[in-house]
Amino acid sequence: MPIHLEAYRQISQTCDQHGAVLVAVSKTKPVEDLKELYALGHRDFGENYVQELTEKQPQFPEDLRWHFIGHLQSNKVKYIAPFVHMIHGVDSEKLLKEINKQGARFGRRIRCLLQLHVAREETKYGLDTTELWALLDALKKEPLLHVELCGVMAMASFTGDKEQVRAEFRTVKKIFDEAKQRYFSGDGSFSVISMGMSGDYGLALEEGSNMVRVGSLIFGER
Ligand SMILES: *Cc1c(COP(=O)(O)O)cnc(C)c1O
Repeated sequence: MPIHLEAYRQISQTCDQHGAVLVAVSKTKPVEDLKELYALGHRDFGENYVQELTEKQPQFPEDLRWHFIGHLQSNKVKYIAPFVHMIHGVDSEKLLKEINKQGARFGRRIRCLLQLHVAREETKYGLDTTELWALLDALKKEPLLHVELCGVMAMASFTGDKEQVRAEFRTVKKIFDEAKQRYFSGDGSFSVISMGMSGDYGLALEEGSNMVRVGSLIFGER
């Protein structure tokens, strides 16, 4: 399946206008589709599954930035630690410690985003604010040298209610601002707000997102 070129160009342009990074979510899509986008100069790709990512990664040049956006199990960190550009869905101290351990093993500082839970659904992963402050307090006492905390990631509720989605994105921005002020003032690397997907990236950008993760609009339905 060829990629949706017009949609890609338009989303890409909208992201540029907002100073946001477009992560093209290529999960379940064949390597040929990714190559098509890579050939256009696109470099940020998002994958959800460790095995799929480790199969695709060797088939591309090293300047491709792989974003791991799925739920990551601690025992699988080691497979992506040598090359992953950023891990979006970190929501426990245990996982962060394992990422730190693997970062040390491979002599890297691995970029991570803390996943926030703001959606109505119970099933979604992520930290509530109480858990977030507890985690950041713990890290303040015991910094992890091989992890670079770059910001936050979130998913809004699956709903057609735009005002609900907007309110959730606004909450993410507010929590990010508070975290930055309380724990990362003067630390420029805590700067990323990863939110917005095919159905809501426009709203997300309006509410302060600077990294969107868009799949189906670019690569077609999965
Ligand atoms: C699949 C996925 C996306 C992209 O979803 P689309 O609706 O296809 O744009 C974004 N973020 C996460 C975490 C995903 O799992």
